[in-house]
Amino acid sequence: MQVTVLGGGLVGVTTAWYLLDAGHEVTLVDRATELAAEASHANGAMLHASHTEPWNTPRAIGQLLRWIGREDSPLLLRPSEIPRMARWGLGFLRYSQAHHHARNTQVNARLATYSLRLMRELEAQVPLDFTQSHEGILKIFHTPEALETAKADTALMAEVGVRHETLDAAGLVTREPALADIRESLSGGIFYPDDASGDARLFCQRLGQIAVQRGLELRLGETIQQLHCARGRLTEVETDRSRLKADAFVLATGAEAPQLAKQLGIRLPIRPVKGYSATLDVSDLEGAPRLPIIDDGRKVVITRLGDQLRIAGTAEFTGYDTTVRPRRVAAVIRQGLANFPRLAAQIDPAEADQWACLRPMSMDGPPILGESGVPGCYLNTGAGHLGWTFAAGAGRVVADLIDGKTPAIALEGLTLGRYA
Ligand SMILES: Cc1cc2nc3c(=O)[nH]c(=O)nc-3n(C[C@H](O)[C@H](O)[C@H](O)COP(=O)(O)OP(=O)(O)OC[C@H]3O[C@@H](n4cnc5c(N)ncnc54)[C@H](O)[C@@H]3O)c2cc1C
Repeated sequence: MQVTVLGGGLVGVTTAWYLLDAGHEVTLVDRATELAAEASHANGAMLHASHTEPWNTPRAIGQLLRWIGREDSPLLLRPSEIPRMARWGLGFLRYSQAHHHARNTQVNARLATYSLRLMRELEAQVPLDFTQSHEGILKIFHTPEALETAKADTALMAEVGVRHETLDAAGLVTREPALADIRESLSGGIFYPDDASGDARLFCQRLGQIAVQRGLELRLGETIQQLHCARGRLTEVETDRSRLKADAFVLATGAEAPQLAKQLGIRLPIRPVKGYSATLDVSDLEGAPRLPIIDDGRKVVITRLGDQLRIAGTAEFTGYDTTVRPRRVAAVIRQGLANFPRLAAQIDPAEADQWACLRPMSMDGPPILGESGVPGCYLNTGAGHLGWTFAAGAGRVVADLIDGKTPAIALEGLTLGRYA
């Protein structure tokens, strides 16, 4: 079968990979001149089945409303964005109810554990150096209440296979000696041994390169403009340079998927949620952590990538604006380094590589995979804060569906049909 994948981020590249592996003729199109140019470029680098609770907790919604318009807050809703996200926002609120939230945490965790297993298989199968680490991820907490909430979420994830170990402050420092300086302020933490980390951009670009050697037709620098149907079936995609026919298409254009889907009458409940990252060279510095760390209270993740330290965070509802705002990046760096005062004293934040991009966020949390309701058009988008974690699993699920196979995990809660 001839399949064209639209979008060359994590999700598009892994989907193309598994389609190729299943013996299909695959083309991948992206408007950028390299793979992973957008949300998959400099993300938090975490492969974390441990972080699968959707963001619409009642507490987060309260913070979002309290901090409207506050430039240095980790969650920022710009007043100008409110009218544009009314419908999505109502869904975001509705799905924050405890039973929805618990179910979606498990839907995400099920896909994430499957995905991390596939990542291990992929790494065993093809030579891929993306500064990966398989030493687990540590979540740290600064208040006993936050630790208790995380234990409850983790219990839900544990039911679908996420292993974990609860630690007191001393245990945290034993696992990660770089936390010694803030030991007194830590209430405890949770260690997730099966989580991993790695550079998403390197992964995409290297897997893409091997895919090309195996027959993938890669069309970069080509913008998809129009989707054409014949007798109700998507048969052709028009770009600024060509017209591409295929038996099936996969919509994997990240935060911009809703605009293209709209041409087919498909309404995708996805909004862009902006995030920032800063990447610092820590090769000659003392006190940098070795383990990836999630600091949920400060809303940042801190990941070692070889000689570099990546700090990522913030959720900004600001439409499709990707401007890098120095004040927001400075806040991310400050929050991340607050856990490592010795390291902070040696760092000049002005030297960080600064980046901002848009997470494609579904209104209930899980991604949207599989059939779109329009024959010939498959969906793989809406992964929100978990696109790197889900990439292999979501790619394989969609490739299996196109291939006519039953995916290895249940699709309940992962398809567009859940909103019906
Ligand atoms: C700050 C930040 C930190 C994050 N940290 C983590 C983390 O630690 N762990 C984790 O699991 N996830 C994380 N994420 C989420 C993850 O990065 C995203 O979910 C993931 O990158 C989404 O991948 P994608 O392929 O769907 O989208 P993208 O990577 O954005 O890919 C979409 C592609 O479609 C292309 N495209 C769009 N429109 C068109 C068009 N009309 N024509 C041609 N091409 C088009 C774009 O050029 C782009 O390359 C983070 C995200 C951010 C922003």
